[in-house]
Amino acid sequence: MFKNKNIFIIGSGITGISCINYLLKKECNLTLIDTRLNPPNLNLIPDNINTFFGKNVNFNMLLKSDLVVISPGFDYKLINNNILNKINITSDIELFCKEKPKSKIIAITGTNGKSTVSTLIFKILKNNNYLVYLGGNIGNPVLNSLNIDYDFYVFELSSFQLEILNNLKSFSSSILNIGFDHLDRHINIKNYINSKLKIFNNSYYCVINIDDNLSYPNKINLNSKYEFFGINSGNYHLKFIKDKIYLMYKNDLIIDSSKLKIFGIHNYINVLSSLSCIKYINLNFNKVINTIKKFKPLNHRLNLILNINNITWINDSKSTNISSTISAINSIKFYSTIHLIIGGYRKNIDFNLLKSFLKNKNIKIYCFGIDGKYISNLFNKKSIYYYDLESIVYEIYNKVKINDVVLFSPACSSIDNYNNYIDRGNHFIKIVNKLYKINDN
Ligand code: ADP
Repeated sequence: MFKNKNIFIIGSGITGISCINYLLKKECNLTLIDTRLNPPNLNLIPDNINTFFGKNVNFNMLLKSDLVVISPGFDYKLINNNILNKINITSDIELFCKEKPKSKIIAITGTNGKSTVSTLIFKILKNNNYLVYLGGNIGNPVLNSLNIDYDFYVFELSSFQLEILNNLKSFSSSILNIGFDHLDRHINIKNYINSKLKIFNNSYYCVINIDDNLSYPNKINLNSKYEFFGINSGNYHLKFIKDKIYLMYKNDLIIDSSKLKIFGIHNYINVLSSLSCIKYINLNFNKVINTIKKFKPLNHRLNLILNINNITWINDSKSTNISSTISAINSIKFYSTIHLIIGGYRKNIDFNLLKSFLKNKNIKIYCFGIDGKYISNLFNKKSIYYYDLESIVYEIYNKVKINDVVLFSPACSSIDNYNNYIDRGNHFIKIVNKLYKINDN
């Protein structure tokens, strides 16, 4: 199929490298393009492929291609329409689907919760002795799985991956939720939603968040089955009795939320959506429950850093949009004041939504990073702007009182100042730890 074809790969990140490794075995002529002058993984690029790097790369050369494989980090709309109309574009996920058309894929997307849900599904299936590959946006390129035939493939898919994906055939799929995100690349919310909705095309079993009508499929496929989860309705739902919250399937109790290590309504919903996606897989109920009970928040998602003198410091650096910051605030039940730290690159998102959510709440806002000033101006007197995170943490440290919560949930991408959300979260943790050690001495 690929032999002697001219194939271009755009992006030298881990996805691009996985495509190179896959296609090298197919005896085609490979060219790698990256618009960065010093792209990553230079040491992993074999000598026998052509490379073109830098922002002045001439995309006209794509006209000589038989196929162009686009990495999700590259916005293919940067290629001139005259060229785009004349070339075939594809992605690593499509290459995988063509290579392994019979694989059982569980495809997960959504504005928030993708990694949490994909990881929980992976762990439940693994603890039930299935051979499972967890891949996609979570950081393991799907083509790296080809050496082994897995029972199930759990793919976390971003809107950028779905945007260029047309041949996905999944065993089950879900859009966990839809909030405003990535409007710098998708331009408007409609394009963003349409990318996400593609996950339901050709899916045997579609799992729908009943509370989020933006995520409903456009059309019902008579060959597919449908399942619903939600806070108060859907087969998988929550039951609120006094101050207790129970996870339910129809009228049956799955688990009491107080037995879980993750907290917040959004996380209970994450558990329910995970269970919905694997409803048709043969599983041992006790093993499922044990896995859910042991499941801890992934790093940088609502992690408690310290609780000292009844002052709580929380790292939620993975919060890169308004919805995740709102769910973080909703998860904190008891507090005197929340000191909320937000900022970074806002991806063309209008922060008025966050402003109206925060109205009448006892929350002080501290803004930092490239869009910190914009956000701070929006909140007026309720907020303070500092260019750097360190100054904010010092300021808060000097004024926190008993029963206050400090929440680092930036609602923005980290690319203005950091490599990624992990570096950003680690920086925050380092400053906090340093400060308390200084105090201890
Ligand atoms: P994603 O992979 O979609 O970015 P993660 O599981 O990594 O999702 O979580 C990202 C952020 O979203 C974290 O701040 C987390 O606390 C928050 N979050 C997780 N699940 C949900 C959800 N269902 N609704 C809203 N926010 C969520």
